Amino acid sequence: MADMPPRADGPDQASAAEPRETAATTTALIVNYVRHHGGEAAVHDLLAAADLRHTAAELTDPARWYSYETRIRLFEAATEVLDDPEAAFKIGATALENNLAPAIVLLVRALGSPRQVYRQLPSAVTKFSTTSTMEVVEAGSSQARISFRLHAGYRHSRLDCAYAQGLISTVPTVFSLEPARIEHPACQSDGHDACIYDLSWQARRRPWQRSRRDGADTELKALRAQLASLQSTASDLVGSHDLDQALTRIIERAASAVIAPAYLLAVETPGADTPLVHRAGLDPVTAEDMAIRLLGGEDLGPHVVVVDVATARRQYGRLAAVYAADQRGLRDERSLLSAYAAHAAAALELVLALDTSRRDEARARDLLTLAHQLSVTTSEQEIADVVVRMTPTISGAPRASLLAWDAGRGSLRGLAAHGGTEQTRATLLETELRPDETSELARMLTRRRPTVLRSADVSPVLRSVLEALDTETVVVVPLLAGDTLLGVLTATENNPAPPGWPDAEAVERLSGIADQAATALQNAHLVTRIRHQAQHDGLTGLPNRALFMHTLEREIATSESDGGVAVLFCDLDGFKQVNDQYGHAAGDELLRQVAARLRAHLRPGDLVARLSGDEFALLLRGGDLDLGAGDVANRITDGFSAPFRVDGRELRISTSIGVAVQRASDDGGHLLRRADAAMYVAKQRGRNQIVLDGETPRGGTTSRRSAAQLRAGLDAGEFALYYQPIVRLTSDLGEPRVTVVGQEALARWCHPELGVLAPAAFLALAEESGHVADLDLWAVRSAVAAAVDWAGSGHPFHVAVNLSAQTLIDPRLRACVREALSANDLEAGSLTLEVTESRALVDLPGVVEQLTQLRQLGVRIALDDFGTGFSTLTWLQRLPIDQVKLDRSFVATLDGSDRAAHLVEGVVALARSLDIEVVAEGVERETHLRRLHAVGCELAQGYLFGRPTPTAMTEPSTLH
Ligand code: C2E
Ligand code: CA
Ligand code: CA
Repeated sequence: MADMPPRADGPDQASAAEPRETAATTTALIVNYVRHHGGEAAVHDLLAAADLRHTAAELTDPARWYSYETRIRLFEAATEVLDDPEAAFKIGATALENNLAPAIVLLVRALGSPRQVYRQLPSAVTKFSTTSTMEVVEAGSSQARISFRLHAGYRHSRLDCAYAQGLISTVPTVFSLEPARIEHPACQSDGHDACIYDLSWQARRRPWQRSRRDGADTELKALRAQLASLQSTASDLVGSHDLDQALTRIIERAASAVIAPAYLLAVETPGADTPLVHRAGLDPVTAEDMAIRLLGGEDLGPHVVVVDVATARRQYGRLAAVYAADQRGLRDERSLLSAYAAHAAAALELVLALDTSRRDEARARDLLTLAHQLSVTTSEQEIADVVVRMTPTISGAPRASLLAWDAGRGSLRGLAAHGGTEQTRATLLETELRPDETSELARMLTRRRPTVLRSADVSPVLRSVLEALDTETVVVVPLLAGDTLLGVLTATENNPAPPGWPDAEAVERLSGIADQAATALQNAHLVTRIRHQAQHDGLTGLPNRALFMHTLEREIATSESDGGVAVLFCDLDGFKQVNDQYGHAAGDELLRQVAARLRAHLRPGDLVARLSGDEFALLLRGGDLDLGAGDVANRITDGFSAPFRVDGRELRISTSIGVAVQRASDDGGHLLRRADAAMYVAKQRGRNQIVLDGETPRGGTTSRRSAAQLRAGLDAGEFALYYQPIVRLTSDLGEPRVTVVGQEALARWCHPELGVLAPAAFLALAEESGHVADLDLWAVRSAVAAAVDWAGSGHPFHVAVNLSAQTLIDPRLRACVREALSANDLEAGSLTLEVTESRALVDLPGVVEQLTQLRQLGVRIALDDFGTGFSTLTWLQRLPIDQVKLDRSFVATLDGSDRAAHLVEGVVALARSLDIEVVAEGVERETHLRRLHAVGCELAQGYLFGRPTPTAMTEPSTLH
């Protein structure tokens, strides 16, 4: 073996001479689909119809590649055998469900959104095909245009095209969305340069269409499949009986970690001059050249993903996944290849050890058994148990223990012990050693070598441990993953130890065990981390929906009676506005703080999870939940009354809560749905409400169809305008005097079942369902008509109407305003249109023009909720406005420091210099009024002067 030349091994030998153009992932999907729909007989027909030499097993072996020709023949044969012209599309469309390379599903989901995935699609395609190139012409948040070109020299196939369409349309399903709709305006089969696919998908699930299917399920499923495949690969590798076979298998199985058109493995073995080179998908000359550069540590460029094949003890060589020069792998792919390479290195170590220890076959077999047993363990504890149980057989020393390094606590702690007495084992499991008390441990953390400790010359703490263990000499071997200490393995003879123990051979063997253990531990940690990620929400660290449902089902199954479990469903009020106004980073920060506040209300044993977006759920157990759950809900809403601090700004947000207590017939899904339905009723009652399931009014749960209800309500005239006075502040001998100068019209929905609803209960729905413009145009007409009535009573009144950003871009708006004014003969200057400060104002095209043209009609424009958005001051100059309305949170700060007053003063001064009026909103107290007056603010609005009422007040309600 020593002077073996570079070798041309690899799976391409089996499919001799066939060019590597199509990864077996695709052929496997075809075969499996046909099998699923027609059984083994259909698979048999498929192979016959396609007239191929390959067996079904070969076509489904993920390590292989086939020609483009083979792929097309299989598509044609599948269409024929299943007698389904849509078969190719369906094969693509069901690829994700059928476990198309789980590693890919994981990577794809980690990208976060369909748009990100579509952007990365061209790289993903290179993993499956070398004959086509995909390009992203454009990718937005809900649509994308993709071009797909088959290279010259190949015959384009409509079936292949259908398959591609099926596959790319499924991307949104990874995020629990409906599949994308796809249009195909140009096909290469019709003589176009490339196929064009236009995709569109729903960017976000509508809140009232919550589906049970959650993305985390997809992720967990993929994760499980990926782990299973890594594990079976690992035990395959250690099953190799010589180095050559081990190397060949490493290349063959690399596809289980990362799918790429080619792989290269270069390994240096002790005593050999030339490296061993194994390859797949590369010609021998290129492979040899690359191998030398690979081992020399050269950077081979972004199209080559390189990882070390190394154990803690030795670097064996490097493994590379190789893409075509102009292509590259997916993000995060390196970590998967690394995990695989760790298995490969462990297998090599073992095979080499076997090679040199033929003398002692029995022990070698034990080492192999150890490797096999470790390859099916997943938890740290299982690994420790297996290792200490096997150590005596392999090393000869009768007592062994494994201590794990707990980086969080900075100590070594006993995890498993074998041999000795019950007493000594118990002592070991209770042992906790810290580097500051045990100099030997401190040394091990830096030196990382096997060490023999004798009780005569160790530190006092350790000496007392050794005494308790009734031993004088112990061999301690570190468990290392690269530079990281994972723990130590110890071995001891019974007291007294035989003379000469331990010899070099014993230490060497223990090191072999330690390497195996370290690799297994490293993988267990990786698994734990990935599992944690799959079950927790990355933003808040809370459990996610999948873990919540899992725990809920388990609790229900074990709870003894009805009422043992309760669910609180919390949905934040107006979270969307926070995102719109302050940006997503602030929204995220708010969600983190909300999570922390919710956690603070947990009792021991309760669980809080983030279900999605701004939805959270609490699981409460035990006690008198009918009472207890309501209490917790009350404490939560109380807890939200204090503002959150985000980016140095105070934000207020409330939450609507639905509560449901478990009944005998409930499963987790029912219980959550009942809490969800109760929450929905709470929303409809306005903000900050708690509704207990069961107290929901008739029709409560069916009111999910509320977009339709809202429409019907608009048509049936269920909406009304309330009016709130706007006052002018003047001075009367130094005392502020107040006169009503106008009214703001505020919409109300007089709901037949739920009573009078404030905008908080329906505005978001109106916006999301596209009915808000109708509502606003109706408000303009009604308000203008009402204003004329007041004017008739002798008061020269202004009226202000709120418009949503959607209404601003509605083509009917200007005509509606003009007609309302002329029909009622109202002067244009008496109407103010209020638009809310938000990103939409600058983001939506045409808004500024629209505002300008409205002003040309003579109508006044007010910028509402001023001071809550960002880049506020610059907008004063950019937007064509006559008035700003200082948000109520601004005014509320007037209770506090003088700085707040200075701020208001500054805004008033700035606005005045730009010839813009300022209205202070939310004036609730006399003190506000006085301070506003003092800083020169002339217009105000708030409960102090009058609440919104169905008829306009012409006198302020509380002040005269
Ligand atoms: P807004 O334009 O900022 O209206 C002022 C809101 O503050 C009103 O809430 C009003 O009742 C409340 N308010 C007034 N003075 C005080 C006070 O002293 N203290 C407190 N705490 N609150 C006060 P409302 O009526 O619930 O309306 C909420 C929002 O809904 C409005 O905020 C406006 O943005 C929107 N809205 C109302 N009617 C319409 C409409 O017809 N079309 C559109 N697009 N939006 C509307
Ligand atoms: Ca307003
Ligand atoms: Ca406002």
